[in-house]
Amino acid sequence: MPAAPNVPALPPPIAAPISTETRLAYVLRHFWLVHEPLPNVSIGYADTQPTVTIADAAGPFFQQNTPFPAAPNFREWAGRRVPFFFDTQPLAPLLVLGAGQAVINADIISAAFYLLSGWQEYFSDTRDRHGRFPFDASVQKQYGFVALPVVNCYFDVLKMAIEHVTGRPLSIRPWRQGAPFAAFISHDIDNLRSAWKAPAKAALKQGQLLKFGQQLWRHLTQPDAWDNLETVAAATAEYDGARSTFFILPEHRPGADGTPNADYSLSAGFVQRLETLKTQGCALGLHGSIGTATDALHLTRNLDDAGYAARGLRFHYLRWEPRQTPGVVDSVGFEYDSTLGFAEHYGFRHSYCHPFYPFNFSTATEHGFLEIPLVVMDATLHHPHYLRLAPAEVLPALRPVLDEIARFGGVFSLLWHNENFDPANTRNGPAQFHELMGELRGRGATFLTGREILALLPS
Ligand SMILES: [Zn+2]
Repeated sequence: MPAAPNVPALPPPIAAPISTETRLAYVLRHFWLVHEPLPNVSIGYADTQPTVTIADAAGPFFQQNTPFPAAPNFREWAGRRVPFFFDTQPLAPLLVLGAGQAVINADIISAAFYLLSGWQEYFSDTRDRHGRFPFDASVQKQYGFVALPVVNCYFDVLKMAIEHVTGRPLSIRPWRQGAPFAAFISHDIDNLRSAWKAPAKAALKQGQLLKFGQQLWRHLTQPDAWDNLETVAAATAEYDGARSTFFILPEHRPGADGTPNADYSLSAGFVQRLETLKTQGCALGLHGSIGTATDALHLTRNLDDAGYAARGLRFHYLRWEPRQTPGVVDSVGFEYDSTLGFAEHYGFRHSYCHPFYPFNFSTATEHGFLEIPLVVMDATLHHPHYLRLAPAEVLPALRPVLDEIARFGGVFSLLWHNENFDPANTRNGPAQFHELMGELRGRGATFLTGREILALLPS
């Protein structure tokens, strides 16, 4: 897909190579973030004679700057058809368990690194009209695995190998005792004043001037149906006292490329309301305006304009330039971000259902902020450009995703815009939100804010 003319030229990627040791360290760091610690187990490639040996099968791939490796080999694992990249021995069994040792015959370390680091989008030049790496260009789309957290499946293979060589069970750290997984509920606040516009426009188009006049009068005399943050917070709190995280957009003027920002300004009265929501346990994050994903000074101005100390972030329109944005987020000092999902499809953009520290291609280490990947955005479910699910199709579509997150004890990160709590929305509106929240409660999810997730992770 060619870049739209208003998308500025991409900066060049920092050149590879990324060494074997770097890949191994990054992947194992994340493996041990989600598993209980276990001493005395060595994991690596044959040259270091570890007890768990991984096949070294990436060849020169990580010495080059090409975005896509050879097609994966699909293998059965725990009842699923799992794609294994860097699997050059398709006829060999995946896992060979011997006396005191184990061999994994696919290079799951390189494959996990490839997906978790976001290698494909960093080295690909393809971007959509919002400057985003499009789902259409991804390996998840090409090989049909966006709803499967493949890195977690690789970790499952590794877990079984470690359990074999140590003779001890290895468990995934629970977010809360007894809770199978966590849920992070958030709302991007783009619009507070515009509920009347669509019906008024429709009335005008149909020549129904009386109806148009009524809409206009209601707009001028009554609070807008989307000016509803207290309603949103109360709707979320119905579920085991879950707390909403609001990502507030402090820029009213459209972006330099004409894309709209907020339809509201941060008045003193509005800031006071936010403070009240905060005292009720809601969390306030920053919704980075158009342009901030590639401009640290602009993002800092957003933060100053917000007037409260936001530690969490999500970019408006899920804008994210893989070659620049992680550095911008680091330099402004955010603790966590929750932008990284595909706008076009629910599921796992990095094929991982746990929070992770994005890979820093400049330093070959990790970035300082935690990414809580976005799993479902309301707009994705029903939108002319994205999916067009009927209301009754929403929950059945998402259940397999919830199954996977529950299986691996991950985090279900949900974005439901405040405007979609308007009862007039019957497609991806309040009824669908409540259905989904009921499902989460029924499955025993523990509801956490971004900072709670961060605090629960081992350092
Ligand atoms: Zn937004």
